[in-house]
Amino acid sequence: MSVLFTNVAALTMDPAQPVLKGGFVAVEGTKIVSVGTACPKGEFDRVVDCAGKVMTPGFVNAHTHAAMTLMRGYGGGCDLHTWLNDYIFPAENKLDDRCVAAGTALGLAEMIASGTTCIADMYMNTETVAQTALEAGISANLACGAVYFGDPADFSPDRCNDCQNHIRLYENWHGAGDGQIKVDASIHAEYTSCPPVWEWVADFAQKHGLRMHVHVSETHSEHEKCLDKYGTTPAQILDRYGVWQNGGIAAHCVYLSGGDAELFAKRGVTAVHNPVSNLKLMSGVAPLFFLKDCGTRVALGTDGVASNNSHNLFEEMKAAALVQNYSFGEDHGQLSSADILAMATVNGAQALGRDAGVIAPGKIADLILVDFTHPNLFPCHDIAENLVYSAAPSNVVMNMARGKIIYENGQFLTLDMEKIRAEIERYALPRIFG
Ligand SMILES: [Zn+2]
Repeated sequence: MSVLFTNVAALTMDPAQPVLKGGFVAVEGTKIVSVGTACPKGEFDRVVDCAGKVMTPGFVNAHTHAAMTLMRGYGGGCDLHTWLNDYIFPAENKLDDRCVAAGTALGLAEMIASGTTCIADMYMNTETVAQTALEAGISANLACGAVYFGDPADFSPDRCNDCQNHIRLYENWHGAGDGQIKVDASIHAEYTSCPPVWEWVADFAQKHGLRMHVHVSETHSEHEKCLDKYGTTPAQILDRYGVWQNGGIAAHCVYLSGGDAELFAKRGVTAVHNPVSNLKLMSGVAPLFFLKDCGTRVALGTDGVASNNSHNLFEEMKAAALVQNYSFGEDHGQLSSADILAMATVNGAQALGRDAGVIAPGKIADLILVDFTHPNLFPCHDIAENLVYSAAPSNVVMNMARGKIIYENGQFLTLDMEKIRAEIERYALPRIFG
């Protein structure tokens, strides 16, 4: 399939040509083949006139748990640890493959309709998540998030479910869909596992060349308890066991100390900022200026919908900008809209090892069109400002993931919303909540 976009106004994230006006973008198969002001020669299967719209790279949701849409708003009003132990863990105990498939499909629908083309998802029943993401057409880095509450002395990879899940997930899904699905090695968090697990997962990542995905220093109590227990921070105790040797994703990073940010910069670990979830669970605000000064890449994520309560990266961009102003603005000024957009696109793509997030020849064709004729985007003095502070999911009129249009003018082209809704209403919700 080949597509030619005409009359393109784009924020490309390509330093060689950051803004395109009155341009042409051509897509062949899964790749962008040309970007410029001259119309490329040749025949195209489809021509899309982009007048009145703005093209940007699709958003990368670099930390989420898509299936948690089933628990949207459940356990509201709690801090992280109460919310997890009293609400989320008991509900998750009732999940099966059908529930996870339905919840993931709903989560992906919400993300696709709001401009997301690529995700990093950590969840249980991960092979079901992989199948659902493959069908939806979105690129996905998937992780099962190893958890182990047993006695460390009793740990055996043969008897550890999540070690076996790593092996199955890698063997069955890594590289599926011509690279659409990638598998990351993963530890849920320092406080939900122990050194023998970290050692095993780190070795597994090393053996297969996988990135890592971990929740890191999300709350003050998590950070402080780790300092008490191990005499060092979650980031650094995990590093002692080789967890970061291939880089990866550290979700949250609200509390960092003693060289954590410098360590992440050195190891090529991206800090994924989840401002809405962090505010909702009263966890705090990640220090983005400090991370940036240390050379640590920052990307954006929504976290699970149960603590957000949406998968809306426009909201995440705006919240990221505003909370930095509130917390650090006096000393640092504002993060630019361009910086915030980079966090939602190219930085996330790089974090996930995806050759995307930039509108340039040779890149994966992950693109969205945003309708700038909507009242909330008019007038426009600065495209980036409007995208970060004014735009909403309802302004997204097209989502192209890996060269395929998967959402257009309110229609899902890979997902059956009626079927998803029926499966959730008739099966998933009764099973989980009675
Ligand atoms: Zn999370």
